[in-house]
Amino acid sequence: MSKTGVRSHIESLQGYAPGEQPQASKYLKLNTNENPYPPSPQVEPAVLNAVRRGLERYPDPLATAFRIQAGLQHNVPPEWILCGNGSDDILTIVTRAMVGEGDYLRLPHPSYVLYRTLAQLQNAKYQEVQFDRTWNLPAAFTSGTPVPKLAFLPNPNSPSGTMLRVEQVDEIAQQLPCPLLIDEAYVDFAETHCIELVRRHAHVMVSRTLSKSYALAGLRFGYLIAQPSLIQQLIKVKDSYNCDALSIAAATAAISDPDWLNQNRQRIIEQRERLTQAMRQRGFDVPNSQANFVWCEKASTDLKQLYEKLKENRVLVRYMRYEGWPEGIRISVGTAEQMDALLAILDTIQPPR
Ligand SMILES: *Cc1c(COP(=O)(O)O)cnc(C)c1O
Repeated sequence: MSKTGVRSHIESLQGYAPGEQPQASKYLKLNTNENPYPPSPQVEPAVLNAVRRGLERYPDPLATAFRIQAGLQHNVPPEWILCGNGSDDILTIVTRAMVGEGDYLRLPHPSYVLYRTLAQLQNAKYQEVQFDRTWNLPAAFTSGTPVPKLAFLPNPNSPSGTMLRVEQVDEIAQQLPCPLLIDEAYVDFAETHCIELVRRHAHVMVSRTLSKSYALAGLRFGYLIAQPSLIQQLIKVKDSYNCDALSIAAATAAISDPDWLNQNRQRIIEQRERLTQAMRQRGFDVPNSQANFVWCEKASTDLKQLYEKLKENRVLVRYMRYEGWPEGIRISVGTAEQMDALLAILDTIQPPR
């Protein structure tokens, strides 16, 4: 019996470790895929307005204003949208609704490590199906046993930035014996998305976040797109007021400014292509990324050491070592100036031949 009174499966789990978030420092921060640009200029007045309207009342439990705007953007009715305190909240709500003690959650590997923690918190199990070396998913992702209660598929994936085609995801959805949540945290940096699969299949969900492409990681706002019968069930699981009045106002303003999104998306994609080429020229293996980061492997180099040397030089990237996979560093795409600085420091650590 535990002395703290905490259930034993919680006591024995490690807990998810987010990327380093040094507060108030001079790091060039390229480790958690934040946007290098500020959010839409519409955001600040929207927040101030919400403050002026008063904070003494509870917010709209369903964030209707946001659902209407997001529905317009995605061409779905507002009833198809569930808002969350970041998309991590959305992932938590869906896992709590669908995965119970002893059940299985199916995941690709290597991928977003939080998914494992979500299973562990339910005292559930996870089955990881490894990507092949070209970052495609083998048939075991849809056919393995025991039958899972839910599958997560980040698309684009993290840490690779790679993406399955819509037809591939459609096939996965059709073959899976359980609901599929397609985590589209990075999809605004990609050429395609899977919202049409939600229209086609009642067991398919798409999650989105304003943290990355909308530059609002500090705000905490994400949402799910799914058919209304499923959304109605999930509403029972969420906290009553999971989105606060300020974040609803800010997120609604941000998603109503697609011009700002497009401008930043273009700049980031440009730098992503440049960074990919630059890292390849320096001998790294870099898969084609559809996200705002690139995954770099290099068998001949100790990448943990490279990560540490970059950190000594005030550049933060994410070092990752996944079981059964070569180690790598994941570098978030920044501004042109930030990429200049990164490459210059890299070349002092590892002078090009
Ligand atoms: C960043 C990220 C999220 C979470 O985003 P928040 O909305 O900030 O909680 C979800 N999934 C993946 C794959 C991510 O990288």
